[in-house]
Amino acid sequence: MKIIDQLQEDKNGLSCELFPPKEGGQLANALDIVRTISQQGVDFISVTYGAGGTSTGKTVAIAEAAEKCGVPAMAHLTCVNAEDAAIEAMLDQLQAAGIQNVLALRGDLLPGMELTHEKYQHASDLAKKIKSYGDFCVGGACYPEGHPESIGLNDDIEKLKIKVDSGVEFLVTQMFFDNNIFYNFLYKAREAGILVPVIPGIMPITRANQVANAVRLSGCNVPERFRSIVDCFGDNPAAMQQAGIAYATDQIIDLIANGVNHIHVYSMNKPEVAKGICDNLSAIIH
Ligand code: FAD
Repeated sequence: MKIIDQLQEDKNGLSCELFPPKEGGQLANALDIVRTISQQGVDFISVTYGAGGTSTGKTVAIAEAAEKCGVPAMAHLTCVNAEDAAIEAMLDQLQAAGIQNVLALRGDLLPGMELTHEKYQHASDLAKKIKSYGDFCVGGACYPEGHPESIGLNDDIEKLKIKVDSGVEFLVTQMFFDNNIFYNFLYKAREAGILVPVIPGIMPITRANQVANAVRLSGCNVPERFRSIVDCFGDNPAAMQQAGIAYATDQIIDLIANGVNHIHVYSMNKPEVAKGICDNLSAIIH
């Protein structure tokens, strides 16, 4: 099923993001995680992609496993330094596996990697390619606090409009811990003529050291209220997990109460986190 069709249904929904195992990691474990998360009643599962094509086969295998469990899948695909032939090969694999949804991303150059192919400078170039190549539903990323390379939120939103005009049918946000940042972004995006569905991405922080990683990777703001939770429970793993799930649940309830009807959970391959959130929302979702 195409995600855009799900998003147009009049119901509240949740999706989860998984990542393929690192090199040498067990694909079998990842497939077990897919099966467990599929049982939580999530609307779709997205599977990340190692920039530079480092996870191609595993991304497809995990997305295919979700489809086999009856949950629509969205495969992430990056284009930085990619050649046409590699992108087309990936799209062929996705089509053969029955995966209809692709999140079109530029990706980051990994440390030490040089820019060698310049055809795909931006995610918008990839979105155009995917739309012209096959019958895919294409999503894109957006950044409520502005992309770290942009000169500011307004400029980033102008560039986002190009991405949407290139065929992106819905957007998934970078994580944020303060819903007001999302509401402000959504208002500005709508004002700029970006009218596609925008799915907020919520990251349940269940370990204290995840906060530093989240800030390093996304530059996102960590509100004082959340910092005090980490200060208080960070040394107690069970308590931190419970508090992180509660904080994410609270963010999701506020989003739904303010008219957002689909939320993407960065569940980080932790079925217990996905289950905790789904259980907390059992009477709210669906
Ligand atoms: P773009 O949309 O190309 O934007 C990158 C920068 O270029 C921005 O500053 C933007 O303002 C600017 N820009 C965009 N279009 C134009 C234009 N036409 N002209 C001029 N400037 C422009 N990374 C992975 O490697 N694998 C993943 O699976 C993955 N999944 C992600 C999922 C989500 C929901 C998010 C939010 C991010 C994900 N990332 C992933 C990270 C992402 O690849 C990086 O944030 C990357 O730096 C930017 O990717 P993008 O697709 O947003 O790029």
